[in-house]
Amino acid sequence: MTATEPNIDREAMHARYAAERDKRLRADGNEQYLDIVGHFAHYLDDPYVEAPAREPLSDEVLFAFVGGGFAGLLTGAKLKQAGIDDVRIIEKAGDFGGTWYWNRYPGAQCDTAAFIYLPLLEETGHMPTEKYTKAPEILDHCRRIGTHFALYDNAVLSTEVTEIEWDEAAERWIIRTNRGDEMRAKYVGIGTGPLHRPKLPGIPGISDFAGHSFHTSRWDYDYTGGSPNGELMDRLGDKRVGIIGTGATSVQCVPHLSRACGELFVFQRTPSSIDIRNNHAIDPEWFATLEPGWQEKWLMNFTILQTGGFADEDLVMDGWTDISQRIRDRVLANPDQEFTPEAFLRAYHESDDEKMLEIRARVDEIVRDETTAAALKPWYRQLCKRPCFHDEYLQAYNSPTTHLVDTDGKGVERITENGVVVAGEEYELDCIIYASGFEVGTPFERRSGFDMVGQGGLRLSEKWADGMRSLHGIHVNGFPNAFVVGPTQAANLISNVPHNLTEAGETIAMIIARAEELGARRVEVSEAVETAWVERLEAGGRTFGGDPSCTPGYYNNEGGEIADSSRRSSLGFPEGPVAYFAYIDAWRDSGEFEGVDFICDS
Ligand code: NDP
Repeated sequence: MTATEPNIDREAMHARYAAERDKRLRADGNEQYLDIVGHFAHYLDDPYVEAPAREPLSDEVLFAFVGGGFAGLLTGAKLKQAGIDDVRIIEKAGDFGGTWYWNRYPGAQCDTAAFIYLPLLEETGHMPTEKYTKAPEILDHCRRIGTHFALYDNAVLSTEVTEIEWDEAAERWIIRTNRGDEMRAKYVGIGTGPLHRPKLPGIPGISDFAGHSFHTSRWDYDYTGGSPNGELMDRLGDKRVGIIGTGATSVQCVPHLSRACGELFVFQRTPSSIDIRNNHAIDPEWFATLEPGWQEKWLMNFTILQTGGFADEDLVMDGWTDISQRIRDRVLANPDQEFTPEAFLRAYHESDDEKMLEIRARVDEIVRDETTAAALKPWYRQLCKRPCFHDEYLQAYNSPTTHLVDTDGKGVERITENGVVVAGEEYELDCIIYASGFEVGTPFERRSGFDMVGQGGLRLSEKWADGMRSLHGIHVNGFPNAFVVGPTQAANLISNVPHNLTEAGETIAMIIARAEELGARRVEVSEAVETAWVERLEAGGRTFGGDPSCTPGYYNNEGGEIADSSRRSSLGFPEGPVAYFAYIDAWRDSGEFEGVDFICDS
């Protein structure tokens, strides 16, 4: 059957989707993963930088930001642009970069086009070298932002925040860290990222393994040889290596492992969908023709097209915009010109059926061994899991030393002293690499490593016990002068997270500039304003993921029931990202900052 064949047996296809999902449902749902503490704590150690010795700090800054990834860098940069200089980023890693600091596994690269994924390109004057740049270039760009906006000057690195507490009398936040610091700040920002804390699979016997092991977000190049730049991992030539997991991370590093390992065993529970990547170098001459303001234009063009809107041209042209344009074209081709939600849903389903047929056909075109090819085919809708794009992953399975060990949806059975057991067969290994992802849906304070204590001793964990509550995903009643930076309860644009962060940084910078101009002591939102915002989002019901008909994964709480609290925490603006960006732009530009109270001395 080909993608264009009109007689797709949709019923059979969807029955297979349901059967494959059911096979994977587990009673323990999200509880199947291990919290990386105690015996496992070393999996979180920073392999890249040793924390330098220093004396504890007990000083005060105007704005302290927790997290030196894109959220902190963008907010810091926007604050500097707004004339706020006294900014301190506190980061547990040894440098800026966030996810790009930690994830240095071979083959790591951005999955969203660099022209829109890398923030502040015009401000820093950087031209991405490729459409999808590799991780070292992204990490360098993070450092470039840090240098360009002088964010290193006051930064505190290799330092983990343990608690943030509001001092009502002094109207200051007190920030305590694992280095004995007790800093004070008038304002705090929190940008610890949605996929911050690695997780391990709760496989029986996991602590019995006597060989070497690490998580992909803490790649051990001392053991493997090679480097994040893609040089051959020359210490693996005589090694039998197993990698557990076949998500977006594994898809990017398997081709490199395949080239390097004596034998590579890829343990698969659910195959990813692997669409075409089509990466290419950027032509500097062409880049020089871009006019000032191009990045903002590209960002909006992508967001419009990716969320089903109309634009004269597709500037980014990638797998993300392809998905939504297919849907849109189907709706337009509908002879009845029906533009109802039902028509869009039908168009989505039909486009997706077509796309997934193509993706499965691609597996057959590339993978020579029929059994392996069959096991690599994804049987679910493309957006049930993170879509992957790669032009070397499927090809890796044609190597005689690369073995797919498909667990038929059951997962690895057991780990022993010697290796990994699947379906009763033990695979002896020298090294196990956990490509098992990151915590999603666990409590905020567990993922971030600290709690916030707001007015009246109220903890953020208590405040959000029934899910996130905020205005614009930024302000939380009871937590004055505090600002949260993330996609949720705002645009919720998942296909290009930095776009959300850019806007949040801009909003915060404008608010702080106004507060300082007014001589305000506090910036806060009332409970009524916060409730109205949450109710507005709840009425719209636009959340990220959560489709129970999908194959289990972190998008849908492993197929388990989605609690109201989780749903609330993943709400987005009812009319979608484009409308949100227009809304927040107008909200800021009005100069009224409606809903935000600036408390000044009377
Ligand atoms: P994921 O959570 O997507 O993948 C974890 C993998 O581990 C899955 O394949 C999962 O199988 C598997 N697994 C878990 N438990 C077991 C078990 N007991 N036995 C066998 N397999 C098991 O993590 P990733 O790190 O791959 O990706 C996380 C997210 O990070 C992505 O979704 C994406 O948002 C982001 N990312 C972005 C990239 C980019 O933009 N360039 C690159 C890489 C990641 P199953 O699917 O059955 O649960």
